[in-house]
Amino acid sequence: MSSLPELISSLPLADEAEVVVAGGGPAGLCAAVSAAQEGAEVLLLERFGCLGGLATMGLINPWMPFFTRGKTINAGLFAEINARLHAETGEARVGEGADYAFDEEMLKQVAQEMALEAGVRLRLNSLLTGVATQGGQVTRLGVASKSGLQVIGGQLFVDATGDGDLCAWAGAEFEQGRPEDGLCQPMTLCFRMAGVDEERMPTRPEINALYDQARERGEIENPRENVLWFRTVHPGVVHFNTTRIVGKQGTSAEDLTAAEVQARQQVKETVAFLREYVAGFDQSFVIQTATMLGVRESRRVLGDYLLTVEDVLEARDFEDGIARGCYTVDIHSPTGAGTDIRHLRPGESYALPYRCLTPRGFENLLVTGRPISADHGAHSSLRIMPIAMNLGEAAGVAAARALKHSGRTRAVDVEQLRETLRGRGAVIEAP
Ligand SMILES: Cc1cc2nc3c(=O)[nH]c(=O)nc-3n(C[C@H](O)[C@H](O)[C@H](O)COP(=O)(O)OP(=O)(O)OC[C@H]3O[C@@H](n4cnc5c(N)ncnc54)[C@H](O)[C@@H]3O)c2cc1C
Repeated sequence: MSSLPELISSLPLADEAEVVVAGGGPAGLCAAVSAAQEGAEVLLLERFGCLGGLATMGLINPWMPFFTRGKTINAGLFAEINARLHAETGEARVGEGADYAFDEEMLKQVAQEMALEAGVRLRLNSLLTGVATQGGQVTRLGVASKSGLQVIGGQLFVDATGDGDLCAWAGAEFEQGRPEDGLCQPMTLCFRMAGVDEERMPTRPEINALYDQARERGEIENPRENVLWFRTVHPGVVHFNTTRIVGKQGTSAEDLTAAEVQARQQVKETVAFLREYVAGFDQSFVIQTATMLGVRESRRVLGDYLLTVEDVLEARDFEDGIARGCYTVDIHSPTGAGTDIRHLRPGESYALPYRCLTPRGFENLLVTGRPISADHGAHSSLRIMPIAMNLGEAAGVAAARALKHSGRTRAVDVEQLRETLRGRGAVIEAP
C-alpha cells in the first residue's frame, strides 16, 4: 500500500498554478491578492465556501488596534479592505479599546471581489489533505472535495491555513503550545445576540459582577473569568467572544469535535444568564454561532528566525522587517481563568522579519498569518487580523518575486521586497 504523499505523486494533476495559496483567511486572501497583483498566476484553496477565515466564518470581530498614539502600523491591503468596507457600510465604529468593528457579511463580498479583480483563481470547498515533497521542495498538494481526492501542482506554495497544515504535512519543523506543557491558548466559539436594548445594558463591571454571582450559584461552567463582549456595526446586535475551551489542540479532529460540543453548551448557559439577569437582554435571541470554531493557537512553524516575546515587548527592529505589529502580548489562559496581557510602550511597534516566513529546510514554501515562526508569547501578539493581513501581503509579494528565482524564497532580494511593500502602502519602518 502506498503512503498519501506517494499517492499524491502518482495521480495526474487536476490543476496547477505558479503560486498556490492554501487557506483563504485574512492572511491567505492578502497573499493571493498581492501575489496576483505582482504578476503571478495564483490559485487559492479554501476548505469552506467563502473567503475570510476567522474574520468571516469565525465571527471574529473587531479588528484589534492597528495604531498606537495615532500612528498607523497596519496598512497596505488591510487599509484597502477597510476602505472598501467603509464605502459599503459607512465609517467604522471605534470601540472602547481603539478596536474597529466591521460587517463580516460585507467582508465576504469584499474579499471575493478583491480576489477576482486581482485575477486569483478560487478553489473553494477544497480541503488540503496531503503534501508531496522532493528534496526540500513541495511538489504537489492533495485536495479533498466533492470531486474526490485531486492533485494540485505549483512552483511556489504559501501555507495560510492558520494551523501550518501544509508545512507540517510537508515535514517542516514546528512547535505547538507553551514550552512547559504544550498547551495552547483556549478555543472560543463566538456568537451574536440580536434584539438587545443597548440603551439599557449595564456597564462591563456590572455585567461581570452579575456573572460572578451566577458562577457562585453554580449556573456557569465556563472557566473564563468574565464576559467578553463587543458592540457590532448593527444596532441591537452584540458580539460575544466569551466561551472558553481549554486543554484541546486545534490540530486534532477528536479535540475539535469535543470543543464544538462543549462550546455550544457554554453558549446555552451564557445566553440563559444574559436573558435572566442582564438588563436589555430580556427580549434578545441568538442570531448566529460561528461556522468556524475559533482556534487562537496551534502549530508555529520554525523558520530562519524565531520571533520572541522579548522582540515584541522591546519593540525590536529587523533589517528584513516586512510588516509591523503594535498589539499587546495577549495570552488567554491555556488552563482556565485569566488573561496575561503585557503592553508595548505607548507609541512603539515591532518589526516582523521575512525570515519568520521561510520554513527551515524548504526552498519553495512560505508560511504566513498566525503560524509564522514565533514563540508562544510573540505569537499571542502577532496573531491579530490586521497583522495577519500584512504578513499575507508580504508573503504574496515575496512569492511572486521568488518565481523569478525558480521559486527559491531565500533568493528574494529583501530590500527590493521591502521597497515594493512600501510602494503598496505597507508600514515597514517605525513611524
Ligand atoms: C476566539 C478568537 C478571538 C480573536 N479575537 C480577535 C479580535 O478580536 N481581533 C483580531 O484582530 N484578531 C482576533 N483573533 C485572531 C485572528 O482572528 C486570527 O489569528 C487570524 O484570523 C489569523 O488569520 P489567518 O489567515 O492566519 O488564519 P485563519 O483566519 O484561521 O484563516 C485560515 C483559513 O485557512 C482555511 N484552512 C484551514 N485549514 C485548511 C486546509 N487544510 N485546507 C484548506 N483550507 C484550510 C480556513 O478555513 C481559513 O479560511 C481572534 C482569534 C480567535 C480564535
